[in-house]
This record gives sequence, C-alpha cells and structure tokens, in this order.
Amino acid sequence: MSRTVYVNGEYLPEERATISIFDRGFLFADGVYEVTSVLDGKLIDFAGHAKRLERSLGELEISAPCSVDDLLEIHRRLVAENDITDGLVYLQITRGAADRDFAYPTDATPTLVLFTQSKPGLADSPAARTGIKVISIEDQRWGRRDIKTVQLLYPSMGKMMAKAAGADDAWMVEDGAVTEGTSNNAYIVKGNTIVTRQLGTEILHGITRAAVLRFAREAQMRVEERPFTIDEAKAADEAFITSASSFVMPVVEMDGAPIGTGKPGAVATRLREIYLEESRKAAV
Ligand code: PLP
Repeated sequence: MSRTVYVNGEYLPEERATISIFDRGFLFADGVYEVTSVLDGKLIDFAGHAKRLERSLGELEISAPCSVDDLLEIHRRLVAENDITDGLVYLQITRGAADRDFAYPTDATPTLVLFTQSKPGLADSPAARTGIKVISIEDQRWGRRDIKTVQLLYPSMGKMMAKAAGADDAWMVEDGAVTEGTSNNAYIVKGNTIVTRQLGTEILHGITRAAVLRFAREAQMRVEERPFTIDEAKAADEAFITSASSFVMPVVEMDGAPIGTGKPGAVATRLREIYLEESRKAAV
C-alpha cells in the first residue's frame, strides 16, 4: 500500500512526490534531517528533535520553512494517515533548488520532505534481548558531526564494513578514541560508571543520549563524559548504544571478542526500561 508523504506543503501518495534535480540536497548533500520515533501512535521527544533541527539549520544558514507547531502538525497527520502505531517519521530540509554553484544561493526556497516508516514492535526488538556485535573502524567523516546533515555515505560504508565482518554496526575511532557508532551514540560501563564521549563537534548530540544520561543520573548512576578507547571497551563490563530508532541497545561483542559476559548487561537493560517507560509517558 502506498504511503502518504509530505513535500513542500502537499500531502501526496509517495509515487507522486517529486523534488527538483537541482535541489542542493541532491547535488551537494546541502540539507539536514531528523528521525523521530513513534510508539503507540505518539511522537517520542518531538521537542528535542525540533530543537536540534533548529540548531542544524542555523549552523548552515538555511531558513526554517515553517514553524515548529506546523512541523508537529505535519508529523501527526502523517502518523494518522499512514496508520502508524510503532515506527519512525523522517524529516529532511534542504537549502532548496538553485542553479549549480558552490556558494549558497540567496533566492532558494528550502525543500521540506517528510515520510513515515512503519516498524511494528519497534520497542520490542529481538536484538535488545541478545545484544548487537560491533567492529571498530577509523572515523573518516567530516569535522562538523554536531550538525545532522544528510552526508551519510561514510556511515553507510561503515555499516557495510560491519556486515562484511559478520557484525551489526561499527564504532568509529579518531586519534585513538571512540567518537560514536555509525548512527548512534556509544557507551561503555565499568563498575558503577557509564562512560560516553563528551559533546563537541566530533559527535552528533543525540536526543536519546541527552534523555538517557538524565535518567541515569536521576537513578544515581555515575556518568563520565570523556573519550574512551577500544581497549577500554573490550575490558568493560558492558556496552550499549542509543538512538531514536534503537532506544538503548546492548552491545555484546567488539571486534570478535565478548564484552563482559557476552550478554546484555544490567545497566543497559535497566536504562532501556526506564527510557521506554518515561518516553512513552511524555510522548505527544
Ligand atoms: N550519532 C549519529 C552519527 C547518528 O546518526 C545518530 C542518529 O541518527 C545518533 C548519534 C543518535 O541520535 P538520536 O538519539 O538523536 O537519534
């Protein structure tokens, strides 16, 4: 069945949705995006995603095509029209279409596209019970990873490297320290302490990361925001990732070696429960 998608003010069947070949998102990856999860037909942390979107647009001097209230309305209408119980809403804003030139055009109108992905049982993924396997790869992305741009080729290559190695994902390493996963933030747990890379231009400021660290601190867990190495990860008691689509997902293997017991750890399991419970309560 065809989805209803949103393109520049119109709700259309996906087959009829088009954008220009001159769109700078297509020619220059000159655009930003957000992915918001949907549980029980409601949006998880919409306000957090809207705020980060505003920041990404500001950093690239792209003007917002509409208000945050309008965006919420579009999200809700797509969730309703596509009958999404559990799934994702993808939003992309590009600088718009203009004759090809590296300099930003002054007269382009931003392109706004949204679509849904239905993922029945999103919060009940079997991987959360077994944990996932990761490999380490060099971080070869650009230097402004704090902006959520659509330049996702290196993360795609990373996922393919993981797949080729029989793993599920890759953690990227720069100057000897882990930055993040290809599409998620990375954490290790040693004793009572959760360690994750500090915010900066080296990583995406995950919306799930912010919520999970807040819940961890509220639950009296110790949190250290600092760089950590792959050797530390291999010697950790447990590890996990966070993202809007995976929530909190245990990591049980690094470069072929088990982490801790090789099974999902107590901290990741507890944080996943708290995150899902609190996020469902606050969903809009
Ligand atoms: N880091 C990267 C590189 C990502 O692509 C993502 C999500 O797509 C994340 C972290 C997690 O961010 P969030 O929790 O906002 O989904």
